[in-house]
Amino acid sequence: MENSLRTDESICCLSGVGVARKALLERLSIRTIGDMLMHVPIRFLDRRSIISIAELRRGTDAVVSGMITSIARRQRGRGPSLSAVLSDETGSITLTFFRSGFPGSKLQNGMRVVACGTVESFKGYTIVHPELYFSEEAAAAVDAPGMLPIYSLTAGLTQNAMRKMTSSALDAVKNSLVDILPVDVVEAAGFSRRWDVFRAAHSPDSPEEAGSARDLLALEELFLYRSVLTAVRKKSSMEPGIPLTSISLEVFESTLPWPLTSAQKSVCLDVCTDMSSHSPMRRLIQGDVGSGKTVVAAFACVVTALAGKTAAVLAPTEVLAAQHYASMGEFCSRFDLEVLLLTGSTTDSERKKIAEKLQEKPQSILVGTHAILEDWVPLNELALLVIDEQHRFGVVQREKLLTNRSPRPHALVMSATPIPRTLAMTFYGDLDISVIDRMPPGRGFTETRVIDRSEKSDVFVFMMERLQQGERIFLVYPLKEASEQSDLRDAATAYETVRYGPMAEFGTGLLHGSMPPGKKMAITQQFRKGEIAVLVSTTVIEVGIDIPDATVMVIANAERFGLSQLHQLRGRVGRGGGNAWCFLVPGEKASHTSLERLNLLASTSDGFAIAEKDLSIRGPGQVLGTAQHGIPKFKVADLTNDGHLLRAVSSMPPIQLQEIHLLLKSQLWRYCGIELPGV
Ligand code: ADP
Ligand code: MG
Repeated sequence: MENSLRTDESICCLSGVGVARKALLERLSIRTIGDMLMHVPIRFLDRRSIISIAELRRGTDAVVSGMITSIARRQRGRGPSLSAVLSDETGSITLTFFRSGFPGSKLQNGMRVVACGTVESFKGYTIVHPELYFSEEAAAAVDAPGMLPIYSLTAGLTQNAMRKMTSSALDAVKNSLVDILPVDVVEAAGFSRRWDVFRAAHSPDSPEEAGSARDLLALEELFLYRSVLTAVRKKSSMEPGIPLTSISLEVFESTLPWPLTSAQKSVCLDVCTDMSSHSPMRRLIQGDVGSGKTVVAAFACVVTALAGKTAAVLAPTEVLAAQHYASMGEFCSRFDLEVLLLTGSTTDSERKKIAEKLQEKPQSILVGTHAILEDWVPLNELALLVIDEQHRFGVVQREKLLTNRSPRPHALVMSATPIPRTLAMTFYGDLDISVIDRMPPGRGFTETRVIDRSEKSDVFVFMMERLQQGERIFLVYPLKEASEQSDLRDAATAYETVRYGPMAEFGTGLLHGSMPPGKKMAITQQFRKGEIAVLVSTTVIEVGIDIPDATVMVIANAERFGLSQLHQLRGRVGRGGGNAWCFLVPGEKASHTSLERLNLLASTSDGFAIAEKDLSIRGPGQVLGTAQHGIPKFKVADLTNDGHLLRAVSSMPPIQLQEIHLLLKSQLWRYCGIELPGV
C-alpha cells in the first residue's frame, strides 16, 4: 500500500475496511485514519511479563500461557460456574468463570490460551474471569515482540482486527504526517518524529515508551486547542469594535457608597482601556466570592449606557439574575438609566414592554437569563455583554453570542472560580485575564472546621445559639453524580428531621435543583427576609446567592465535593461583615486522604492555592467543571489525569493564526462532533 495517505482521509482507504467494518468503527467514532491513530490502546499485555505458573504470586496482575487440561462445569449455590485448569511445564492454575462471564463453548480441552488477570488464592491459585486469548490470538500474544495492545472495542470487532487496521493505518501515513508539536518537544520525549509517536502509542517497546507516546498525543491535542483559542482572540482583536468613553472611573466611583478597593480599581482600569479601544474587549475577571466583581460589571454597563448603547448582563439562573437586577439598580440610581429584567418567567405583556423600551431607549441595561438572547429582543445597539459565572458557558457559546454582530460587542466574563494560570492559559486562551485579589474591607472572618462525630452535638448547640441571635444557617447536602433523585433524598430526609426538630420554630425551608425557578426564588426571598432561618439545600446555592445574615454553613459528606467547590460554598456565609462559621462534616466512609484535603481547606482562604491543590488532586476537569462547560471531550487527553501536561502546553508558543488556518483544515477530523469556535 501507498504510504502517503492523509490523516483526514476516510478509513475506507485502508485495505480490509469495507462497509461493514466502517459501520462498526463508526460506533467507536472512528471515521478517518487520524481517528484510528488516536484510538490508542486502553492498556497493553506485556508479553515480556508472561511468567511460568510456578512463579505466580497472589494479588499480582499476571499473564500466563499454557494449555487447557481440564474443564469442569458445576452447579453450586447461586448458579452455574465453570472452572478450567490451565497448565504449563511448571504447574497449573484454575481459571474460574461464573454465569455472566462464561467463555461459552469457545473454551475447549487441549487448547492453547493466554490468560491474564489478578491472581487470587482459593484452593490454590485462581484467576476469576481472566481475559482470554484463544488460538491465533494467543499465539500472536506469544509471538509478538514486546507489548500487545488492547483496544476498547464494540461488538463485532476483535482485538486482532483492530490491531491489523491500526497497523495498516500506521503504514499508510508513514510519509505524510504534518508536524504539530514543536520538534524539540517531540525529541525531548525520546521520539524522532511524529510518526514514531503514533507507532509507540500502538506498538511500544516498553510500558514507559507507551506512556510517553500517549502523553505526547494528549499534549498535542491540548496544544492545538490552546492554539485555536489564541487564534480566536487574535482574530477578534482585528475586528472593528465599538470604542466607548462616556464616564471616568473617578466620577463613577464618587457615586458609590464606598471607595473601590485597589484591586477593583485596577481591574476597572483594565476594562476602561479595553472598552475605549477600537477592538472589542474580551476579558475574564476572576475574583473570589465576595471580592466585589459586581461593581466592576456595573461600571462597564454604565460606561456603555451613558454612551447611548445597550449593555446586557447574562446570569446562569433566575435567582442570580434577580440579584444582579437589584444591585445594578442601586449602582445606577445616580444616572438616568433604565435597568430591565428579563427571565424565563417574564410574562408576555412584560416582554412587550421591554421590547418597546429597548427600542425607544437603547441606552439601557438589560439583566436576565438566556431569555435575553432570544430573537425578539431588540439588541441592535448592544455594545457590551457581561456573562456572570462563566463556568456555565464555553468558548463556543461565547463566540456564538458575539460573532454575528458587527461591530462586535465588548465581552466581560466574570468568574468566582479561581483558575490556576496554567489552566487558564489553555482553557481561557481566548480571553485577557484580570484578577481581583483582595477583599473589600470590613469583612468578617469565616472559620472553617472539620467536624468529627463526637462534635456533632456541640455544633448543634452552637447553631441554636446563632439562630437565637437572629442569624441564618445553610445546611448543604451534596449532589450525587449518579442521579438527581438521590441527592434530593439526602437533602429531603435531612429537611424532614429539621422541620420537626428544635430548629423548626425559627423557620425552615428546602431548596433543590429540580424545583421550578419561581419556587426557588420564593424560598430564597423568604430566607433573605428571615422567614426561613434554616435552609436545607443541595448545591443550587453554589452560584452567587447573597444573604448578608447567613453566618453558619454546615456541609454534609463534605469529602464528596471538590475543594474549589467547597471554597465557593463557604463564600456564601459571612457576607454581612461579621464573623462566620463553616463546618465540614465528612461522611463515615471518608478516607484519610480526603480528611487531609478538608483540613487543608480549613487552614487557608486563598482560592488560588485551593484551586492549585484541586488541580493536582482531582485534575483540570474538576476545577473547570467541564461537564457544563463546552470544553471538548478530547480523544486522548483526559482532564482528570492530564493536569501535569498543562504546564508544558502553557510554555509552548501557540501556533500562529495563519498557520492554524491551514493546520485546522487538515485536522478538522479531530473535531467532528466536538464544537469548536470558528477561526
Ligand atoms: P462577588 O465578587 O462575589 O460577585 P459582590 O460584587 O457581590 O461579590 O460583592 C460582595 C459584597 O461586597 C457586596 O455586598 C458589595 O456591596 C460589597 N462590596 C463590593 N465592593 C466593595 C468595596 N469596595 N467596599 C465595601 N464593600 C464592597
Ligand atoms: Mg457575583
